[in-house]
Amino acid sequence: MTARLIDGHALAATVRSDLATRAGALKARGITPALAVILVGDDAASAVYVRNKIAACEKTGIRSLHFSFAGDVDPAVVFAKIDELNRDAEVHGILVQLPLPKQFETDAVLETIAVEKDVDGFHAQNIGALAQGKPRFIPCTPYGVMKMLASINASLEGAEAVIVGRSNIVGKPMALLLLAQGCTVTICHSQTRDLAFHTRRADILIAAVGRPKMITGGMIKPGAVVIDVGINRLPDGKLCGDVDFASASEVCAAITPVPGGVGPMTIAMLLANTLEAAERLALHPSF
Ligand code: NDP
Repeated sequence: MTARLIDGHALAATVRSDLATRAGALKARGITPALAVILVGDDAASAVYVRNKIAACEKTGIRSLHFSFAGDVDPAVVFAKIDELNRDAEVHGILVQLPLPKQFETDAVLETIAVEKDVDGFHAQNIGALAQGKPRFIPCTPYGVMKMLASINASLEGAEAVIVGRSNIVGKPMALLLLAQGCTVTICHSQTRDLAFHTRRADILIAAVGRPKMITGGMIKPGAVVIDVGINRLPDGKLCGDVDFASASEVCAAITPVPGGVGPMTIAMLLANTLEAAERLALHPSF
């Protein structure tokens, strides 16, 4: 079997074009949607992610504000900036690029962001709302994955979904979203015994680990849908996912590539959340 490719670039372009229309409608009412991005330190990958997010904003008609701080900055300075952005009526979304340097308590930083501007969806209140099935902002990567599954009409009700990885930003919210759609969800992690036993049962397999090509074709159920969230840099400089694309695509029904899969959709959903925030604040300023 040769799998169907789920093209993240193409799907993201469709999402962005719809968002550009919505951004235009807001602008016609005198509101320019705006996203503030905070980058702390000089992590090369983070700098690339921030650049890509800012470029995507500009293409979609979303104003972006970028604040960079040295890696040894006093956390109080960053807290003060978030506080200022929280109170700025012309800023609709605030994103702090992770990971943060060691002197920061990440949860404390994320919880300083006003819940109505938390477009990454990482604030404890927003995760709580998602867990209760009343999402305000869906974390961008799992949100993008759900759009990718919808784009191929993947059948979710009653499906066995297996997620490898249990991080707060990918694995756990991914599990909540699939559960809400009627999947029977299994979450695997570094202490899981016999990972292949679980992955071979999956109708929907999501890999979010950060280990190059660790999921091979032999670990995949024939006909499964495989979503590869992982982004790993190989010694030759090339990017690859957590799934061994060559062997997996011989077994599964559909698969996302890396690069060009979940990455572009993550950015598209960040823009979607920012627009959603701007629309809500425009319609219900007290939201
Ligand atoms: P984390 O490092 O926070 O989490 C990795 C998870 O993988 C942990 O739950 C860990 O288990 C689990 N794990 C590690 N080793 C194994 C193993 N041998 N078997 C099973 N599980 C294992 O990573 P993130 O969730 O932040 O990111 C995961 C990957 O996705 C990375 O490659 C990252 O770059 C990528 N990513 C891509 C995005 C995109 O837009 N495409 C966005 C965000 C992330 P334990 O909890 O027990 O330690």
